[in-house]
Amino acid sequence: MSHFFERKKEELGIALNKVQQQAVLETEGPLLLLACPGSGKTTTMIMRIGYLIEEKNISPKRIKAITFSRASAADMRTRFERFFPHLPSVEFSTIHSLAFMITRAYLEKNGMNYELIEGKGSHQFNKQSLLKRLYKDVLKDDSTDDELATISTFISGLKNKLIPVDDWETVEQPFKDAGLIAKKYEQHKTKQAHFIYVDFDDMLVLAEKALRVDDELADAFRGRFDYLLTDESQDTSLVQHMIVEHLVAYHGNLCVVADDDQSIYTWRGADPTYLLEFKKVYPDAKILKMEQNYRSSKQIVETAEKFIQRNRDRYPKKMFTKNKQAHPIQLKRVRDPKEQLDYVIYELLSEENLKDVAVLFRNNASSTLYVSELHRRGIPFYMKDADDKFFSHWIIEDILNFMRLSFNTERKDIFAKIVLKMNLFVSRNMVTKFQNANTSGNVFDAFIQTVPLKSRQVKKLQDYKKGYEVIPEMRPMRVIQLIRQDLGYEAALKSRAEKFGYRFDHLNEILDTLENIAMPLRTMIEFAERLKELEEAVKNAKFNPSENAVTLSTFHSAKGLEFERVFMIDLQKGMIPSEEDEQDVRTLEEARRLFYVGMTRAKKRLELLSYREDDGKKKEDSRFLNEVRGILNPAQAAEEHKKRVAPKQVKRKGVQVNPKGIQNRNELSVGLEILHRVFGKGKILSIGGKVKIQFENEQKEFDTATILQFGFIEKV
Ligand code: ATP
Ligand code: MG
Repeated sequence: MSHFFERKKEELGIALNKVQQQAVLETEGPLLLLACPGSGKTTTMIMRIGYLIEEKNISPKRIKAITFSRASAADMRTRFERFFPHLPSVEFSTIHSLAFMITRAYLEKNGMNYELIEGKGSHQFNKQSLLKRLYKDVLKDDSTDDELATISTFISGLKNKLIPVDDWETVEQPFKDAGLIAKKYEQHKTKQAHFIYVDFDDMLVLAEKALRVDDELADAFRGRFDYLLTDESQDTSLVQHMIVEHLVAYHGNLCVVADDDQSIYTWRGADPTYLLEFKKVYPDAKILKMEQNYRSSKQIVETAEKFIQRNRDRYPKKMFTKNKQAHPIQLKRVRDPKEQLDYVIYELLSEENLKDVAVLFRNNASSTLYVSELHRRGIPFYMKDADDKFFSHWIIEDILNFMRLSFNTERKDIFAKIVLKMNLFVSRNMVTKFQNANTSGNVFDAFIQTVPLKSRQVKKLQDYKKGYEVIPEMRPMRVIQLIRQDLGYEAALKSRAEKFGYRFDHLNEILDTLENIAMPLRTMIEFAERLKELEEAVKNAKFNPSENAVTLSTFHSAKGLEFERVFMIDLQKGMIPSEEDEQDVRTLEEARRLFYVGMTRAKKRLELLSYREDDGKKKEDSRFLNEVRGILNPAQAAEEHKKRVAPKQVKRKGVQVNPKGIQNRNELSVGLEILHRVFGKGKILSIGGKVKIQFENEQKEFDTATILQFGFIEKV
C-alpha cells in the first residue's frame, strides 16, 4: 500500500503526511476532512482518486468529484492530469451539472418540457427579464440592475435553503415585497401544465425532489457512482448537501473536504453548519483534521492564523507550517487610489512571471480601473469573473447620453432619456408631453416652452443650456464632472438611491471610475471608443487570456487558488468589511473569513494596500488591516493608532530597464521587426500615442511612452 505513496513521492516530489495518507487510504464510508488553507485538501482529494483507480482498480467512471465552480473543476482536472498523466480522466463537475442531469431525467420521465431561463442557453425571455417585469407589476416602478441582482440572490438563498414557497413572504426581506415578487416569479415559471421554466437553483431543487420522491430514478443515479467526493464543502448549500446524501444513501462512500474558516457564501445560501452536524447525518463518519500549511511562508501562515482566531464561530483548529520565512508581509498605505494603482502597475512591470501574481479586490467595480491601466500598458491579464457588465451599466449609458446631446442640442429623443436624471423634479408625463409636442430647436428652450414648470426649474434649465454650450470644448473628464455636479446628475442619483434603498456609494464609484478612464483622453469620441475597447479587452481577458498573465480576481473567486505573490487592494473601511457587514457579528465574521481567504492565497509575498484619501475625502483603513498591523507589530500599531501619521512615501524599486531595448522614439518605424519581452517576435504596424504590433497570432497595442521608458521591445 505504501508503495503508492513512495511512488508519488518519487514522481511528484510530494510526500503526503500521516493524516493526508490516512485520508487517502480511508476509501470506504463517510469521511470529513476538515482542514486549514493550504494544508493539501485538494491535493489529498486528487491523490485519493488516483489511489482508488491505481490501487483499488476502481473504474474512473464510478467516481464522481464535485467542485464548487466550473473554474475549480478545470483547476482540479489540470492538477489530476499532472499527478496522474497516464490515467484516463475522471469527471470533475459542478453540483449544478450533476443536478441538471438528474433534473432532466426527472422532467422527461414525467412528460414535462422545459426551457432554461438562466445562463448561456437562455433566450430573450430569461430570469432577468421576468424579474424585471414582475418587479414593475408589484412595485410600479422600473428596477435597476442592482435591485435585480438583490432579488435574484434572495431567491437563490430561499431555494438553496429549501424554504417552502409559502414562507417566502414572511422571511426577512431585502426590500419591501421582495418575497411577493419571488413568489410570483415561481408561479409564473410553473403555471403551464406540461412545461416549466428552469433557473440554476431549480436544477438543484428539482434534482433533490426527484431523488427524494422517485425511488426508481434515485436508484438509477445511486447505481452510477460508487465514490463521491466534494471539495470546498463549506460553501455547499442545504439543497446540495441533500442531493449528495441521496446519492450516497446505500454505500456511504463520501469524502467531504472543507474549511469552515473559508466559508464565504452564506449570503447566498451556503450552510457550513451542516458540517457540524456531519456525525448526526453519517453516524459512522471519520473526521480528520489537517493543520499543516504547505503553501505559504512562515510569517503569512502565523499572521493569518492569529487573524482568524478572532472569529468566535468556528471549529477550533491551529494552522502551522514548517515552511521558511520569505518576504515580510508588506502593509502599504499610499495617498489615494491613483497612487495605489500606479504602485501595483509599477511592480507588475518588473515581474517576469506574471502568472504567479494575483491582484485581489473586494468589489469587481475596482477592477475596471486596473483593467484600463493594464490594457494601456500592454500587461497581459486574466480575469475569470470579469465584470463585462460594468460597460453595460445604466450609469454609463446615462453619461454617454449626456455627452451625445452635446453634439446636437436639438435631439429630443436623447434629451427625453436624460431629463429625468437632471434633478429637475419633472415627471414622466411632462417628458411624454414634450416628446409628442410639435416643437423643435434647442431642447432646453423647447422644453421650457412646452411644459408647465416652476420658476426654479426654468432657471435650472437655462443654466443647463449654458453648461451645454461649453461642453464641446471640454476634455471628457471635465465633462463628466460637469454632468455630475452642474447638470444635477449626482443629486438625482442620490435621491433615487434613497428612494429605492440601494447604495449611492456604489453608483458614485462607477462615476469615479469613468472619470479615471477619461483622465488621459482629449475628446468625448475618444472616451466612447475607449469604453468599447476596454469592454473588448475584458472579454478577452476572460475567455482568451495570454499564457503569462497576471490574475485579477475578487477575493471570492480566488478561493482554492495559490500564487507566489498577492496584492490585496482597496483595504478600506466601508469596503471590507462593508457597512452592511459591520451590522452583525455573523456578517462581520464572514467578511473576516473573506479577508483570510485572500491572505492565504499567497505563497511568498503578500502585500496589503490601502489609501489615505479619495477625491479629497479622508479614508480610513479596513479594521482587518489594522488587526493584521497589530499582529505584526503591536507596539507600532498602537503608536500609529495614536498619531495616525502619514506613512513614508512609497519607495520605488526600479523596473529593470532593458538596456538593449529601444528607448528612442526615432528608432521606431513601421514595418520594423521587433522582439517584445512578453509576446515575442512581431512587426510594427503603426506608431502614434500607441504602437500597434502584429505578433505571430495576434495584434496588440501598447502605450508608446511606457514601451520606450522601459525598453520593452528590441530590434531583431
Ligand atoms: P485551500 O484551502 O486554499 O483550497 P488546500 O488545502 O486545498 O488549500 P492544496 O491546494 O491542496 O491545499 O495545497 C496547497 C499547496 O501545498 C499546493 O501547492 C500543494 O502542492 C502543496 N502540498 C500539499 N500537501 C503537500 C505535502 N504533503 N508536501 C508538500 N507539498 C504539499
Ligand atoms: Mg483546495
